[in-house]
Amino acid sequence: MPIPVTSSPTAPDAVVIGAGPVGLACAIELQRRGLRVTIVDKGALVNSLIGYPTNMEFFSTPELLEIGGHPFVTANYKPHREEGLDYYQRVARAEHLSLRLYERVLRLEGEPGRYRVVTDKGDISTRYVVVATGFYDVPVLLNVPGEELPHVSHYYKEPYQHAGQRVVVIGAKNSAAKAALALTRAGAQATLVVRGAEVSASVKYWIRPDLLNRIAEGRIQAHFQTTVQAIRPGEVELRTPAGPLTVPADYVYALTGYRPDYRLLDVLGISTQPDAACTPTHNPDTFETNRPGVYLAGTVCGGLNTSRWFIENGRHHARVIAAHVAPD
Ligand SMILES: Cc1cc2nc3c(=O)[nH]c(=O)nc-3n(C[C@H](O)[C@H](O)[C@H](O)COP(=O)(O)OP(=O)(O)OC[C@H]3O[C@@H](n4cnc5c(N)ncnc54)[C@H](O)[C@@H]3O)c2cc1C
Repeated sequence: MPIPVTSSPTAPDAVVIGAGPVGLACAIELQRRGLRVTIVDKGALVNSLIGYPTNMEFFSTPELLEIGGHPFVTANYKPHREEGLDYYQRVARAEHLSLRLYERVLRLEGEPGRYRVVTDKGDISTRYVVVATGFYDVPVLLNVPGEELPHVSHYYKEPYQHAGQRVVVIGAKNSAAKAALALTRAGAQATLVVRGAEVSASVKYWIRPDLLNRIAEGRIQAHFQTTVQAIRPGEVELRTPAGPLTVPADYVYALTGYRPDYRLLDVLGISTQPDAACTPTHNPDTFETNRPGVYLAGTVCGGLNTSRWFIENGRHHARVIAAHVAPD
């Protein structure tokens, strides 16, 4: 909703928190409607993509990852992470986006029309705030003893450091499936631990049969209906349908998903719905939250349902928000 101007002439009209693909798309659309926009990110430009597996291939074709109408040119059917990183930095430059990187937003003070975004480097006065903070910073924990050990990670990057090693991968979705396959092909001995009775049906249709075939031929050990009880140096203690089992593990990847930073949403004054997804409160038609002039965009909108919004569909939030902030 349009809010009367009260900020100083040098302050941005809008602050976008998060320089992910959706945050960038929001900044572009707001700028195109004549607003001065500052993007703040606690890390690098498209910080989440920086952290994705090094040789990751997007599951989307390039045109579905485009923002601001900038063509994503690649000779590949599906682009790789590095092409995505290059595309988004080119778009940010072409659009002359104002970026404050490696600056963490701590809280939001003030009232509608006169907000103050408080960061670890200072304050920014603004009328509108768009929260596009994604989901990749807070892993869903197993909450078992040993999870904090140095040979346990919730982020998988690349396989070759594990050649000749025994690696336990916990999880049943795309990230776990892809990591188990890549580790196996890089000479590691991968063991997959799955809480459910099978590899998730949501694993992409070109990855799932590959994984099932590797399990069937015994190249990947898989334990279904199995939970992790504890992680110790060199081994993981499991509870399987047949009873307790200890498997060797030089390294453990707990790829059990991520969740939005609810602590941040709380200090931004955004409440949560009492539904199963703990959906952050927002109007689905405008993306405005319970705080007037404060919007949500991208993956964070889905709460715990982190597969509800992704780049392909989340990038469209930008136009809706911009049209609501500055109608024609
Ligand atoms: C391995 C992998 C592959 C994927 N492949 C695809 C695909 O092919 N197609 C697709 O559509 N989607 C894909 N996704 C999902 C997609 O990447 C995410 O949905 C997408 O990044 C969401 O964009 P976003 O801008 O909402 O959030 P993000 O890209 O997560 O950006 C959020 C930003 O907010 C910043 N931030 C967080 N807290 C603060 C703070 N306090 N202060 C300042 N900044 C903060 C973060 O540093 C980050 O840069 C994939 C996800 C993964 C994990």
